[in-house]
Order: sequence, then structure tokens, then C-alpha cells
Amino acid sequence: HVQFDDEKGEKIFPSLSPLFRGHPEIHLRNGIMKASRQAAANQADAEKAFFVADLSQVYCQHERWLKALPEVEPHYAIKCNPDPYVLRLLAALGTGFDCASNGEISHVLNIGGIDPSRIIFANPCKATSFVRSAAKAGVDKMTFDNADELYKIARAHPGAKLIVRILADDSKSICRFGIKFGAPLDVVPSLLAKARELKLDVIGVSFHVGSGCYDPSIYEDAVKRARTAFDMGTHAGYTFSLLDVGGGFEDGHFETAAGVLTNAINMYFPHRHREGIRIIAEPGRFYVSRAFSLAANIIARRAPMADGSIEEEHRTPGPKTDEPSVMYYINEGVYGAFNCIMFDHQVVSPYVLSLNGSFHHSTSEPLSLSSVWGPTCDSIDCVCKVAELPSALQVGDWLGFDNMGAYTICAASQFNGFEFSDIVYTASKAADEEVRRVLRRFAKDLEVS
Ligand code: PLP
Repeated sequence: HVQFDDEKGEKIFPSLSPLFRGHPEIHLRNGIMKASRQAAANQADAEKAFFVADLSQVYCQHERWLKALPEVEPHYAIKCNPDPYVLRLLAALGTGFDCASNGEISHVLNIGGIDPSRIIFANPCKATSFVRSAAKAGVDKMTFDNADELYKIARAHPGAKLIVRILADDSKSICRFGIKFGAPLDVVPSLLAKARELKLDVIGVSFHVGSGCYDPSIYEDAVKRARTAFDMGTHAGYTFSLLDVGGGFEDGHFETAAGVLTNAINMYFPHRHREGIRIIAEPGRFYVSRAFSLAANIIARRAPMADGSIEEEHRTPGPKTDEPSVMYYINEGVYGAFNCIMFDHQVVSPYVLSLNGSFHHSTSEPLSLSSVWGPTCDSIDCVCKVAELPSALQVGDWLGFDNMGAYTICAASQFNGFEFSDIVYTASKAADEEVRRVLRRFAKDLEVS
């Protein structure tokens, strides 16, 4: 499927091979080989942007999870990145899945070998037809946060196992959800009474502190609220058996978040009362963000002319010396993978993969203030308003972007006729043997280099 062969690559497309020769440490090396092979097969694709998906990184994140939160069963939120090989790897590693729609449920079940009991339909506001399809597919666990949803579920899936999603403090997260989802605690008793009246089975409580949580102390308050909701459940005649601590886990804060969560669980759900309670989570970003890097090609450039004059009178941004003077146009933009800048409030920073046609490894060349733009005809399509990049950067050179795995590919469009970027799979780290072994079970057609 995807096989890398440095020697063959060199023969096929020699002009790119200096980019990696003698530098086996370069992260995107294999991806650049793929690009070179594409170029050989089809000149029109010579500079197409591409992702490198390092499946070992996903594996390592799972190991981190197991170490820090051994009692919490991850249900990967597939909305974040439904990449088929990521899903297969996680399926083989035994995680569950958080699905938000009919389509996502089919996506997971189509992998094969995944029991529907490993899925939680974690969207509190679902179309009736989706609830009906979930029932047909055998997906029983689903969240709700309002009475209308209860009527809907009573009609479409009366045997569902319901989880009440409560409102959590999301003020410490980059993407806040509280304005749209989550029942305030004072509403929960009446919701549970309605569920009882409709003879529905409520089995537990969920919350989500918001995506991209930068202050993990917030998990403590959320667990405390969940404890109150559990007690409300007992009062309503239910025996809750599921606590779902949602997503929001950030790579850089993960161990801290795990510590806060563990302490809060021990405090509000002490061991002696925890028997029979299953604890799950819905991490998305944590698993995939670091695993995907993007290589984009500089397809155009607007810069001051060599004589010091500027090319156009109204060039944007302005010609002041403290403002970016060189504009680079790359072949991924905010209508594509960089939609994360708009929807996910991300700030991205480019690094140089190739400079003037050669692999880039020096840090000593002169830099100039630049801006980086996407390929579409819309001026909103700005990837980076200000970046310090080497003055020698040319059309045809490559820029790299790390941490491009979460909320990027999944929401990309083909606006202006620009195709989705390809994905090259690799397993580069120490865990690659293990990744291959695990993947073989679920991905027979994948050759990981
Ligand atoms: N669960 C639900 C219900 C969500 O809406 C989301 C994100 O939108 C997630 C989990 C994943 O969140 P994160 O990627 O921050 O872990």
C-alpha cells in the first residue's frame, strides 16, 4: 500500500533526494519520498501537500493514557480525526469510541470486529432517525441533556442505556461547549423524573470541560458536580453505574489533568463506594494531535523587488519594515487542513523543510518577517500573519507544520477546487514493531515502513 524505498525514490526523482540524504532523523523524510514518487508518477502532483501520520505516536499516547489513568477506559472521539488507520490501531488496542452521528457509528462498525457495546453515542441532541439507526446497530449507550430527547429516545430506542450530560465549567478551555450542551444541576432531578416516567434506563453521568483545556484543575469541580448528579440519580430510584469524564485532554497538560482527575475521583467516588461503577472518557485531541505533521509546498511568493522597490502599490501587508514584507503562498489553507485556525482557534507555526531546494538544517541564515497564505482566492485564507522565515526561501521549497492531527483533515473542504492532501503512514519511533504487530490484526492492507 505505502512502501518507502529510499534507493528507488532517488532513482525516480533525483531532485528531491538531497532533501533527506544523510539526514535520517528528519521527521518528514518518508513523506518527502512519497511526494517524490508521486511526482514521478504524475508531474501535476509534484508539489502536492501531504500529511505524515506517525502511528507509533498514537500508540505512545495510548501507553501514556494507560499509565496515568489505568482505571478510566478511553473512548476515542472520532470526530477529532476519523482516519481509518488510527481507528484500526485504536480498535486493536481495545479502546472504545465516542460517536456523534450515524455516519460516525457506521464508520467505526465498518472497520469490522468492533462490538457496538464499545460505542457511546455522545451527542445529547440527535436526529430521531439517528436514534433509530443506533438501536438497529445495537448501539445502546447515548447521552441526553433535555426532556425532548427523552421523548425521542422513548419512541425510537426504548431499550437505550442513557447517560445524563451535565453542565461543567468550561471557562478554562479553548473551545467551550457549555452554551450548547449540558444540563445544569438544578434541572437534573426533573429530567431524571421524566426519564422514570417514560420507563427509560438512565445508567450514569457525563460531562465535558471543553476542548483544549489549559487549566486541568477544572476537572475537580466537574467530578464534584457528577457526584451530586449520581446522588440525584439515587434519589430518583436509579443505581448509576457509569461515570463519563468526557474529553478536553491536552498533550502538554495530560499528566497534570490525570492527577487532578484521579484525586477527584478518589475523593468523590471513594473506592469503598466505587464498586460497580465503570469510569470512561472521550479523549480526541490527546490521541492524534502530535501524530500528524503536514508538509506544504511554497507555490508562489510576493516579495520586494531586488532593487528595493515593492512590486505593487497596495501590497498587503504594508511595506513598513516592522511588518512582514514577503508573502508566501502554500498549497494548504484555512479552507483545507488549516480550518483548525478558524474552528479550533489554533495558532500554527511553520518550520523550513527545504531551503532553496536543499534539505534545511542550518539555523544561521538571515531571516525576514514574512506572512504565509493558503492557495484559495479568498484573503481570509491566511495561515500565519507573521512568521520569521529565511530570506532565501523560494517557490518550490517545503514548509512543515507539527501537531496537525486534531480537528484538521476532518473539517477540510475542497473550496476553489483544491484537493485534500494525501496522508503517508509511518511508524517511526521505538514502538514501531509493536504497532505493526497490533495493526496487522486490523489493517491487513497496510504496510507501515
Ligand atoms: N466528547 C464530546 C461530546 C465532544 O463534543 C468532543 C469534542 O468536540 C470530545 C469528546 C473530544 O474532545 P477533545 O478532543 O477535547 O478531547
